[in-house]
Amino acid sequence: MNTISVKHVLPALPYDPAALEPHIDARTMQIHHDKHHAGYVDKLNKALEPYPELQDRSVSSLLLDLDSVPDKIRTTVRNNAGGHLNHSIFWKAMTPQGEGAPSGKLADAIKRDFGSFDAFKKQFDTAGAELFGSGWTWLVRSGQEGRRLMILTTTGHGNPIMQGYIPILLNDVWEHAYYLKYQNRRPDYLSDWWAVANWDEAGKRFERSQDPGALDEDQ
Ligand code: MN
Repeated sequence: MNTISVKHVLPALPYDPAALEPHIDARTMQIHHDKHHAGYVDKLNKALEPYPELQDRSVSSLLLDLDSVPDKIRTTVRNNAGGHLNHSIFWKAMTPQGEGAPSGKLADAIKRDFGSFDAFKKQFDTAGAELFGSGWTWLVRSGQEGRRLMILTTTGHGNPIMQGYIPILLNDVWEHAYYLKYQNRRPDYLSDWWAVANWDEAGKRFERSQDPGALDEDQ
């Protein structure tokens, strides 16, 4: 009747908010996770409240089939399901034990598709620096065309699965991700961020990207 199923839940940070210092400060991590990400989850749940038939759907399934979401809440769902999904991937894309560089098959694929690891990093940082306004920079694997690795950006909380690309690594270039420490110096944030990039997780995502169901991020 009037029961509300609260399906979407804020995941805990996989490390202490201070663990990524000095590259990302604890206060930024706390506000980013406890306020911004929590806000996306709350707004998504609230938008879905009147639609019990949508409440069991995963965030990926909502984003991959927005046409099935009523007009009235479609933009809210796109923004907040995207915000929830992107941040859920993002926390795991960072680690206090950053290895500094990929290894194994992912390292080979980066070399194949970008020429070198340094060339890849430069292209990723340039894409992030040149992105106008709020958005994300991604290393993705194409769902077709030889399954190559590519760099792309999304504005707002767009996620590449909506264009058939599988996320391998991502960086949040919204000002809320870096402004307390870096202010307007987004390029400095981007270059410092490599120290906390989680290449072990990126390698796992690369392995999983072989699976036919890889676009379902909620698996
Ligand atoms: Mn963010």
